[in-house]
Amino acid sequence: MATIKALEGRTVHQIQSGQVIVDLCSVVKELVENSLDAGATSIDIRFKNNGLDSIEVQDNGSGIVSENYQTIALKHYTSKLSSYDDLSSLQTFGFRGEALSSLCALSKFHVTTARADEAPKGTRLDFEVSGQLKSTQVVASQKGTTVAVEDLFVSLPVRRRELEKNIKREYGKVLGILQACACISTQARISVSNVMAKGKRAVIFATKSNQTTRENIATVFGTKALPALVAMNLSFELQPTKTQEPASNSENKQVQVIGHVSRPTFGEGRQAPDRQMFFVNSRPCGLPQVAKIFNEVYKAYNASQSPFIFANLSLDTNAYDVNVSPDKRTILLHDQTSLLESIRVSLTALFEKQDQTVPQSQKS
Ligand code: ADP
Ligand code: MG
Repeated sequence: MATIKALEGRTVHQIQSGQVIVDLCSVVKELVENSLDAGATSIDIRFKNNGLDSIEVQDNGSGIVSENYQTIALKHYTSKLSSYDDLSSLQTFGFRGEALSSLCALSKFHVTTARADEAPKGTRLDFEVSGQLKSTQVVASQKGTTVAVEDLFVSLPVRRRELEKNIKREYGKVLGILQACACISTQARISVSNVMAKGKRAVIFATKSNQTTRENIATVFGTKALPALVAMNLSFELQPTKTQEPASNSENKQVQVIGHVSRPTFGEGRQAPDRQMFFVNSRPCGLPQVAKIFNEVYKAYNASQSPFIFANLSLDTNAYDVNVSPDKRTILLHDQTSLLESIRVSLTALFEKQDQTVPQSQKS
């Protein structure tokens, strides 16, 4: 039998990094979330060749203090969480200090950063594959941070080949995530552009800062989307399930679901954009069970179309867990049964009201 040996540190780092950064979407999501965590009000996401050549995320956030240059790309170094208990009251997107360290292991990676008192001078930081700081260089830079990722998965040849093969689909998925980010981010201007080989840079969309989510939706999906949408503000209290302990006093059971959803009575042939976006406390995430309820309720009124959904669930930070999967895309909702039932009831009430206010002539 082969002897059991500990894996070499570098191998462990590569294996784990591939779990944190699973695809192009993870890269973009992690970098944009870091920019938002740094208080940015302007974020530019620039792709080259759909992200296959490079991805660059530039923000006007806080910048990085020079004392942190050594540690920002080390595994499990974070400025956002100090103990496990903090996780239940987390206000930031990041908390595990894994994204930058993983990108060092998986790509050609560098950071340029300047604090307000340093701009227009900044510092370019280059790193070893391990995440150790390799060199610094003074460069011109506006206030904020730019992270550049070139040749994603260069160190994982099989995954690189997969990425090359599926890049169009991957890029499409990334744009979906960025659309959701841009619509929910009312504080920040978000612009997305792409340059194809030797081509001109094409702006895909660019929102402004200090807009409402409805204005952001119009910017991203076009103003034609708006008449099809009804504003949604569902509000209810979660009921503990029979098997559960009564809610602790520290946990607020009040839930709001705020956003925009297709009006089911909107006539056929006048399709709203076919997009469904879910957020928990403004954190974009996939909520398949919640999506299912929305679609079911909608289909009861309009079986021939599927709805546009933009739904932001405001929940107590104790009521869910984001530390479920390495890529943080899965969110575990604690009182899911009660939540789903309440959404079904209050969404039905919203559609009933809509149904009554629409003239009979538009109903068919
Ligand atoms: P996490 O976000 O979980 O803390 P990351 O690896 O994404 O881990 O980032 C490591 C640290 O680098 C962050 O905690 C933060 O201090 C710093 N950082 C990363 N991106 C930015 C940015 N755009 N602006 C300012 N600081 C940043
Ligand atoms: Mg992060």
